[in-house]
Amino acid sequence: MSNEALRPETIAAHALRGVDEATGAVVPPIYLSSTYARDENYKPLLKENYVRNGNPTLWQTEEAIAALEGGTSALLFASGMAAITTLLETVPAGAHVVAPDVMYYGTRDWMKRLEGLGRITLTLFDPRKDGALDAALQKGKTDLVWIETPLNPTWDVIDIEAASKATHAVGAILAVDATATAAVTTRPLKLGADVVFHSATKYLNGHSDVLAGVLVTREENQRWTDVRMLRTKIGAPLPPLDCFLLMRGLRTVFVRYRQCSANALAIAKHFEGHPKVERVLYPGLASHAGHAIAARQMRDGFGGMMSLLVRGGFDDAQKLCTRLKVIVPATSLGGVESLAEHRKTVEGPTSPVPDNLVRLSIGIEHVDDLIADLEQALASL
Ligand SMILES: *Cc1c(COP(=O)(O)O)cnc(C)c1O
Repeated sequence: MSNEALRPETIAAHALRGVDEATGAVVPPIYLSSTYARDENYKPLLKENYVRNGNPTLWQTEEAIAALEGGTSALLFASGMAAITTLLETVPAGAHVVAPDVMYYGTRDWMKRLEGLGRITLTLFDPRKDGALDAALQKGKTDLVWIETPLNPTWDVIDIEAASKATHAVGAILAVDATATAAVTTRPLKLGADVVFHSATKYLNGHSDVLAGVLVTREENQRWTDVRMLRTKIGAPLPPLDCFLLMRGLRTVFVRYRQCSANALAIAKHFEGHPKVERVLYPGLASHAGHAIAARQMRDGFGGMMSLLVRGGFDDAQKLCTRLKVIVPATSLGGVESLAEHRKTVEGPTSPVPDNLVRLSIGIEHVDDLIADLEQALASL
């Protein structure tokens, strides 16, 4: 079976390889062994002989994700943050890193920590301002540009193709955090990015029961060899059982993602102009500043992530989360069940996120139940 010719939906449904050749099992076995034997010539039977270096369940899951992203290699980590911090370990001492000012707060905090320790210099740019990324770049000094699109939790959109051209012009690499809405539907590597990242905890797994992160590269270069080495040394590969669960979730990623997207678009349209809602932030709305770019670089809809700016302030937004009966007041995103979160409570007073912002991760429930739930919670404010 040549996977080159197959479409992403087919690759996902079969977890790339399909039937196990040795046994005919339609679902692959899980290799839990922590160690692998050597043969009569004392050569390892497998390309790796210890679980921290790699194992068959890890490899199958990685190969499936690499194929879906159109990359040459994928590396799975025990969490999204483990993947991010490992990539940041490859930034040379004193080099310059560029990232958006609003993004996943764990990544921003880690970059600020490295800056505080004097290991990197850091410029955070405002992605809403034209030319802000270009102004942040320093030729010969910038090593890594990290972007996220759409941006969590404002869902501003960054043009990946333009960002990659600007990044490459100064000799840096572009990494894209595509966790939030894109799942495997944006394919940043095809738009010129060098590395794509997903918190696989979110859409790729999709069932809120695995913690995982993945990096996928366009080309296998020295930096990639370093990332692989660091993952082994730090001891951060995703364990086999979690790889198996992730692979199971991955099979349905497109079906889930399309349903999440369709539900989210209907909800965004319903609540746009609602008397209790100041603004709906969702790239699928024509009124959204990033709509045209999103329409160009995303497929299968605009994802299930949106935010509501509730009329009132901090208390009203927090209260809205507590009054929901179907949508669960919990963190995380990309699962089959809808979640709501008041980000300011979670990120703390130093966060640039508006006080009245409620983030919604829209799941695959019947959309009318979700709309009714938000209506009753808003009416109670
Ligand atoms: C959740 C998340 C991360 C961190 O991933 P973990 O799997 O929680 O470690 C990074 N970026 C984005 C956009 C996320 O949503």
